[in-house]
Amino acid sequence: KLIEGESLRKKLHNTILELKGNIRVFCRVRPLLFDDAAENEPKTVSFPTTTENIGRGVEVFQHGQKHSFMFDKVFVPESSQVEVFVEVSQLVQSAMDGYKVCIFAYGQTGSGKTHTMMGTPGSFDDKGLIPRSLEQIFESRQTLQNQGWKYEMQVSMLEIYNETIRDLLTINRPGSTESGTKQYAIKHDANGNTYVSDLTVVDVRSSREVSFLLNRAAQSRSVGKTQMNEQSSRSHFVFTLRITGVNESTEQQVQGVLNLIDLAGSERLSKSGSTGDRLKETQAINKSLSSLSDVIFALAKKEDHVPFRNSKLTYLLQPCLGGDSKTLMVVNVSPAPSSVNESLCSLRFAARVNACEIGTPRRQTSSVKQLDARFSYG
Ligand code: ADP
Ligand code: MG
Repeated sequence: KLIEGESLRKKLHNTILELKGNIRVFCRVRPLLFDDAAENEPKTVSFPTTTENIGRGVEVFQHGQKHSFMFDKVFVPESSQVEVFVEVSQLVQSAMDGYKVCIFAYGQTGSGKTHTMMGTPGSFDDKGLIPRSLEQIFESRQTLQNQGWKYEMQVSMLEIYNETIRDLLTINRPGSTESGTKQYAIKHDANGNTYVSDLTVVDVRSSREVSFLLNRAAQSRSVGKTQMNEQSSRSHFVFTLRITGVNESTEQQVQGVLNLIDLAGSERLSKSGSTGDRLKETQAINKSLSSLSDVIFALAKKEDHVPFRNSKLTYLLQPCLGGDSKTLMVVNVSPAPSSVNESLCSLRFAARVNACEIGTPRRQTSSVKQLDARFSYG
């Protein structure tokens, strides 16, 4: 009976998804910070309050012009970490049911991506999506155990910097001779799953164990930062939890994956004043971010060719982006007047990703301008 209920729940869930597609886009506007120095300047970001748009609309003012956008959900500066998590907890849970899930944080450096994903890990109120997701997963594992489910979980964490993968859980110090011999090549196996050769994969039994690993990864990231003169904001951080569940009485099996990704800052060339290495970095970031949007766009339009191979990030996540997998993009935006151009860019990027999912028919062009126009209702 329980299983019947379970499959019915999944069926219903699928029907809802079929109607809405597998891609969701949320927007989160962070509060104004002290450094934003916005005194006496007119407001940059506002939120419409008509019933149709409430909680879904966001407006940006630039040169006296209003640009309006709509998303599946918009979080205002006052929105708490809990409020954000409430909206994603079901998606996280579906990884326990055997779905492949990707949650991305997108936005310029300083817009709140890491706050959204990690927050302040030890704190009760301020911890972000990653620690909360893990707590929920291990809690529900306990519950499901009583229904005959046995779960195994494996964690890996990596960073993609300049199209190069770096293991964040390796015991070798980055740059040491031994880690220098590692390949970190993305391979696709016979079951259509990807793995990274030589990457450290750790079996985990509790969210505390994962916290420990997250700390280690954070350390590894900052070591790399000084040794290689890079900033964590210039790389993509990919946290992967593989979940294998077996029901001991029914022998039913599930294999889910939860990918939580803190993307590199999306700021454009001009602002970072790029030359030399910085230019190369920025080009690599731009390439992989635009590949990501190309892939999501192609998937949602059900195109025959999906350009997964155009970047390491999309190639790595290939099995978790197509098919019946689920994707959420959280677009982080700063309300600072000095960031208005970047904010608009981020929202347009997101609108492009979002637009395709309302079942937009095949179109000749996919120019951002057109889609922005379609989503500008103001
Ligand atoms: P990013 O990772 O996009 O570069 P961060 O997450 O580091 O940005 O955020 C930049 C700054 O803004 C940090 O000091 C962070 O604590 C703060 N911040 C971001 N989002 C929020 C929020 N929702 N509430 C309070 N502070 C925030
Ligand atoms: Mg960050």
